[in-house]
Amino acid sequence: MSGVRRRAGTSTRHGAPSGRRARALSSFLDSHGYPSAISEEAGADSLARLIADGPVPPSYLLSLAERCGAAFSPILEEASALSRAEAPGAAAPREHLPGGGRALGLEEAFARLFETLGEERAGQLEMARAVDRALREDAVALVEAGTGTGKSLGYLVPAALFARESGERVIVSTYTKNLQDQLYRKETPLLESVVPLVRTERLLGRENYLCTRSVVSHAASLMEGGVEPGLAYAIDAALGGDGACDTAAAGGHRSPSVSAPARCPMNACAFADRCPLVRARRRAREAEVLFVNHALLLTDYRQGGGVIGPYSRVVFDEAHHLERCVVENLSVRASREDCRRMLEPLRAALRNEEIWKLLALGLRDAAGAGTKGLKEVTANAAAAVERSYASLFRALEDLLNPSRAFRGTKLRYTDGGETFADARGELNCILSDINKLKETLKAINETSAPKDLDPFRQEAGYVSEELATLAEGLRFLSAGCGEESVFWLDWNADGSLRELCGSPLEIDRSFADYLESFMGSAVLTSATLSEEGSFAFVKERLGVGLVPGRPIETIIPSPFPYDERCLVLIVTGLGDPNEDAFASRVSAVVGSLAAELRRRAMVLFTSYRLCRAVARDLEPLRDRFTILVQGSGESRESLSGRFRRDEAALLLGVASFWEGVDFPGEELECLVIPKVPFPVPSEPVVEARSQRLSALGEDPFEKLFLPEAIMRMRQGAGRLIRRMDDRGVIVILDERLETRPYGPAILAALPSQRIAHVPAGECVEAAVRWFAEP
Ligand code: SF4
Repeated sequence: MSGVRRRAGTSTRHGAPSGRRARALSSFLDSHGYPSAISEEAGADSLARLIADGPVPPSYLLSLAERCGAAFSPILEEASALSRAEAPGAAAPREHLPGGGRALGLEEAFARLFETLGEERAGQLEMARAVDRALREDAVALVEAGTGTGKSLGYLVPAALFARESGERVIVSTYTKNLQDQLYRKETPLLESVVPLVRTERLLGRENYLCTRSVVSHAASLMEGGVEPGLAYAIDAALGGDGACDTAAAGGHRSPSVSAPARCPMNACAFADRCPLVRARRRAREAEVLFVNHALLLTDYRQGGGVIGPYSRVVFDEAHHLERCVVENLSVRASREDCRRMLEPLRAALRNEEIWKLLALGLRDAAGAGTKGLKEVTANAAAAVERSYASLFRALEDLLNPSRAFRGTKLRYTDGGETFADARGELNCILSDINKLKETLKAINETSAPKDLDPFRQEAGYVSEELATLAEGLRFLSAGCGEESVFWLDWNADGSLRELCGSPLEIDRSFADYLESFMGSAVLTSATLSEEGSFAFVKERLGVGLVPGRPIETIIPSPFPYDERCLVLIVTGLGDPNEDAFASRVSAVVGSLAAELRRRAMVLFTSYRLCRAVARDLEPLRDRFTILVQGSGESRESLSGRFRRDEAALLLGVASFWEGVDFPGEELECLVIPKVPFPVPSEPVVEARSQRLSALGEDPFEKLFLPEAIMRMRQGAGRLIRRMDDRGVIVILDERLETRPYGPAILAALPSQRIAHVPAGECVEAAVRWFAEP
């Protein structure tokens, strides 16, 4: 509270709210039962009590901001901290071991859990034993836990017990924010019922936190009522929980200008003590179980470990995504947008005369010619970089895609520097311009400027570092060679050049190095990690075999009676899925299924093109069904929500609906898969890997295409049965499962072995019959 009081006098600087708006707000607050007479002095306390009681509407916060002026941000921060401390059920300092100081054993903990759940879960306990062993033996464990095992608590309970007993923090990393949220919000209370007072925290990427410095700099727009929609939401969200903004809950709104910037000075920032990001990172270091995501964890490792702090035990959930995350993390990209974004702080500074006057003082120069000279030099150097960067992209477009024939495609290049040979002039130009601008920024940085200029000098330093990285990236991408990397040009739908990209071909050694960097223990778990009962594929891809010691390997089957509850129909007679006519045949089957079954159905496509074609064909059915289409501008969360609410809904999903969505019971009873999800052979990374396997005398289909298709098929099929008593039908329209030699391998990987092969004309009838059975 002292921080608030010290600033009490500052509110008058910003004045009272305008009369009309103040009256409107007062009336709004009165009508919603909020005290409109809240004072700045009592602001944080009052607000904290309101927050602790339930959600506070953004309008209320805006009114408070108007009344409190510059003191608003400190009030908001303090209230957030107070509300967390005062909220019912808020955790007290956790110093005691459960059971009066005696460490709780794993078996005892699960006995408690099963009592709470009202059921015994043998698979969950088996998983927990494997995780516990890995944590205690400094080992790597690969654990596949089928749907319904209770995977989350299967690793959370042993992780919490281990952390409690050893005093070592355990990191739990997920691929999606959805799962991270679920662990933090839903599983933690259950975990606490077993391991009381365990300290769990969640840490997200910086873009998920409200930046107090930005909020303060937005105070003026708050006063004027010109608030961007995301700001009110972001404040609301930051107050509501651990300081992180939940964009999904806010319908995808986010205010980029108030989220923590990529370049922030952290502890050196004047607002550090009141910054949600700084606080979250401090709490993260004190946690016993810390929830993060793969991207954050890998970036932290790459940047030397300053964000998460030291650790030696990690549980990777959704581990089947690890390879993709590592590839992404090690990729080099140069997009059209990069340069503009990097130079934005410099452009803002060039608009601020005050900075250049202060710089002039630092240069011991009278405000005038010298200042103007430096400002002009900087402005010209920045403009030259932007110009030459744009020229490079234009030259590549004109040279490599003159008729704009490549649209929305990825064009791999394998000829070393040849692709860039004719653009060498533009390339040299941008590299030279970057150097010149860096020199100018260095000069600015070295001036003995007044302290007020520190933030600007810091920004100039960041810009300089980013420019150096960009130059290094351009050199690497334009060299375009090296057996270990794959390079490509990514073209926009209009034929313009979106991005230059370079990715590592294999990441096994890199990931093994990462594992060895913190060993400790690593548990890799997922519902789909093995193939034909073996972890060979994932071990090879992730380099687990390169790490010393034998990994612990456990496969825990799902407890669900799939064969009783799920019928798989393989539909024949629809022809080759790669033929153009396939789309209309798919539409006919999907339309009939929806019409006859009258149960919620989801179709999982392998391409947006096929999805859009079927959506177009189904247009006439819109008066009978709600047809929800991914890729039509609506977020996955929103589509999922509408699908759950609408009994007559048909969902056409592509990439992200193949996994991570949960539609139990009647929310999903019919799942249609038109095409086996093989990787796209022309994708640069897939193509390059395939060629490398051929060169090594291996069969790319056996070693790459089939294992990935099986993994994906299992993830997709796993969307249907989510609970013990769920019932439904999976309809697969790809007749290659019957006609090609690989068919049995894919069918054997499906959760249900109750499989029937039916001609297209009989598929709907077979499904109707299945649902009619008792
Ligand atoms: S530390 Fe960074 S994120 Fe926090 S208030 Fe300062 S600038 Fe914003």
